[in-house]
Amino acid sequence: MPAHLLPSYVSREQVGPWGTYLSQIDRVEPFLGKLARWVETLKRPKRILIVDVPIELDNGRIAHFEGYRVQHNTSRGPGKGGVRFHQDVALPEVMALAAWMTVKNAAVNVPYGGAKGGIRVDPATLSLKELERITRRYTSEIGILIGPDKDIPAPDVNTNAQIMAWMMDTYSQNVGHASTGVVTGKPIAIGGSLGRTDATGRGVFVTAARAARNLSVPIEGARIVLQGFGNVGNAAARTFHAHGARVIAVADHTGAIASGAGIDPEALRLHVAAAGGVRGFPGAQAIGDADFWQLECEFLVPAALEGQITEANASRIRAKIVAEGANGPTTPQADDILGERGLTVVPDVLANAGGVIVSYVEWVQDFASYFWSETEINAKLDRILTEAFDSISGVARQHGVTLRTAAFIVACTRVLEARAIRGLYP
Ligand code: NAD
Repeated sequence: MPAHLLPSYVSREQVGPWGTYLSQIDRVEPFLGKLARWVETLKRPKRILIVDVPIELDNGRIAHFEGYRVQHNTSRGPGKGGVRFHQDVALPEVMALAAWMTVKNAAVNVPYGGAKGGIRVDPATLSLKELERITRRYTSEIGILIGPDKDIPAPDVNTNAQIMAWMMDTYSQNVGHASTGVVTGKPIAIGGSLGRTDATGRGVFVTAARAARNLSVPIEGARIVLQGFGNVGNAAARTFHAHGARVIAVADHTGAIASGAGIDPEALRLHVAAAGGVRGFPGAQAIGDADFWQLECEFLVPAALEGQITEANASRIRAKIVAEGANGPTTPQADDILGERGLTVVPDVLANAGGVIVSYVEWVQDFASYFWSETEINAKLDRILTEAFDSISGVARQHGVTLRTAAFIVACTRVLEARAIRGLYP
């Protein structure tokens, strides 16, 4: 290719998250029957918006940031997916995260398409006021794509309920009325849902426990190893702990810690809130990255970023079940290694779907202006996820494939059925 030409953004040569997603679609294609005719639609995002996000910093300087919103597919309903603030955010990553949302929403059968957004920024370098300005300007810039019946953002890495509140307020100011349903994961005071903060971590537990039941692995006394102790990792740790399991190691961007006696998730949460990371937690010893990945355990929960389980560490992992809290933590090559070694992987599109399920419930409550109790919400979450897990397990058994391929078979069939029934316009 001549040096002055950029590669196509949907290039098959992509490595990284978009390449991982494309190879997952390749694996599902033989199972799609007549619907395979439509499969190309899954390999191309429907819409991509790249925006410049300029803000005035507290020191008076003007800074510019790259912002993205990708709607991968809207065949089954409006776009739905989180917003990530991270210094490594780039288009192929946002495309892959949007595509996994399409698959996830269809796998658990909530009536959404898939979308994702992000800003290429390290939010730790911003003051609170700068964070508010960048959030508001980004929201205004992507305002032409989002809306309660068009595309509904939610929290992801480094974004939270406060950021959703600023997004909801900015969008509402621009349209001239309070629009609570434009984002989910909001504070309760403006139409958020009880149970949303812990929903993803709770869902990791629910699906992992279902897999454990099939393998006769007891939860009581089970050893848990977690990468990532943010929204997802923290809630997963607390839920496992509450059911009698023992968190024996946690890693985050500051390092890894381990304790055979078990780590109290609440004490660790307080330490992380004060110290900014798990490093230095008094109740555990520091361990190296290589040792972290080869700890013997019943459950390994990657709950940080993509591409963490690779050819380099997959053969050393000594877990019975890998429950993917993060999106795309396992590369296809590593997936094969884990499968050949007989580990069970509960794939991201199922294991971390608890967040989007309660986001869906939040959105429904906002439309109805009628709110359910936390018990009712958790019951809905548990039911939807358990039913999805059982039907996907059935498909895995029927075709002799992994849970990931089975989840993709179920999801892609639903998306492509919708595409085929709607037909092509014009
Ligand atoms: P978060 O920002 O709350 O936490 C991220 C965690 O990852 C932090 O503990 C951070 O220290 C850790 N981390 C970052 N870089 C790391 C590195 N290089 N090595 C080790 N650890 C690192 O984010 P979150 O909302 O908990 O999201 C975590 C993952 O879960 C992401 O893949 C996200 O897409 C996925 N997810 C989140 C939700 C949700 O509801 N928040 C829903 C579904 C999936």
